[in-house]
Amino acid sequence: MKIARFSRNGKIAYGVVEDDKVREISGDIFGEYTVTQTTYNLADVEILAPIIPSKLVAIGLNYIDHAEETKMPLPKVPLIFFKAPSAIIGPGQDIIIPKDSRRTDYEAELGVVIGKKARYVKESEALDYVLGYTCCNDVSERDIQRSDGQFARAKSFDTFAPCGPYIVTDIDASDLKIELIQNGVVKQSSRTSNLVFNVPQLISFITRAMTLLPGDIISTGTPAGVGPMHPGDTIEVRIEKVGSLINRVKLEE
Ligand code: MG
Repeated sequence: MKIARFSRNGKIAYGVVEDDKVREISGDIFGEYTVTQTTYNLADVEILAPIIPSKLVAIGLNYIDHAEETKMPLPKVPLIFFKAPSAIIGPGQDIIIPKDSRRTDYEAELGVVIGKKARYVKESEALDYVLGYTCCNDVSERDIQRSDGQFARAKSFDTFAPCGPYIVTDIDASDLKIELIQNGVVKQSSRTSNLVFNVPQLISFITRAMTLLPGDIISTGTPAGVGPMHPGDTIEVRIEKVGSLINRVKLEE
């Protein structure tokens, strides 16, 4: 099932995407809901970021090939940081490069959307806590990332967390092709099977420290091929079975 969050005539709702239509959901996608008979053409609605979570937990250096290109040693445990939920934008919205940025990079990542409250979750039960998957772009201001040491500012500028287009449920995400396409050119290409720490390991590790709430997103890290974006670029994160997240890049005015 593909769950979309959409806006129509100023009203925001969830719906299930079926071909070129979206069927409105009534109720709570994390609890009781029904899929109604109300349908709209996808072309007649605005698809929004699928969720604004309580927290967006991101993972650093979680692909062997990316750790090699950054010349960083592989982490012994997952390296966790946060991106501000206020940085989230949906498909079709513009990524805004800060005026004085010298290098703002794309990072294609598989996003995991948590479906129910999770604390001290065993790896063997972790996937029971997943609602579905989405595409994420962990946009990063590289100079600030280096100079600050901490990641918060470099990765939380407004618009630095494109997510979407949908939450895709009931798929096995353990070995999916993941790509970043810049102006039609493939820049990153890997498979989620190359993750250093896989999704169950991440959920188990994170929930030993903190409660994950319904709707929280884990952005699981990016493969090799990270590079800069430029105003005018079209940036696509494409993940097999999960979808295609496309955003344009602009310079801050
Ligand atoms: Mg990243």
